[in-house]
Amino acid sequence: MNTKVNGSTIEIALEGPISEKTALFELNIQNYKEIKLNMSKVTFINSIGVKNWILWTCRVPADAKLSLEECPFVIVNQVNIVHGFLPKNARVISFHAPFLCEDCSHEHVIKLSENVHYKYAGDQEGPSLHLPSENKCSRCSAVLEPDFIVEKTFGFIKK
Ligand SMILES: [Zn+2]
Repeated sequence: MNTKVNGSTIEIALEGPISEKTALFELNIQNYKEIKLNMSKVTFINSIGVKNWILWTCRVPADAKLSLEECPFVIVNQVNIVHGFLPKNARVISFHAPFLCEDCSHEHVIKLSENVHYKYAGDQEGPSLHLPSENKCSRCSAVLEPDFIVEKTFGFIKK
């Protein structure tokens, strides 16, 4: 785990599995207004990890912003499946999603970002989606299709 503090902002890069041994859960976060987690090197999360994670998010100060960047797809699944995985003041800024070539079945991973590919529901408007449609297979140049259930995966952008 790497941490970088800049005033009231802390940036934390997580690595490996989220489990009973994750150093993040020992970290004192009481004094920060912004907590940025980079999850690009997270491999998986086990059930104790989920439990500890939820306990940890409860310790995030109510007036602090929590953001998750470059989430692996397994984490986005947890966000959608586990009630309370993300507190109200948290956002998924970006995540890696599996795409599949419709011709040769070659698998690709595409990073999807907030305000580019999806928008959270606001006070006045509903959530919106702009999935990449121009991405071509690196092997055969056919169009890539999402290899996930779009409606389910983007459950988290609804209010
Ligand atoms: Zn292909």
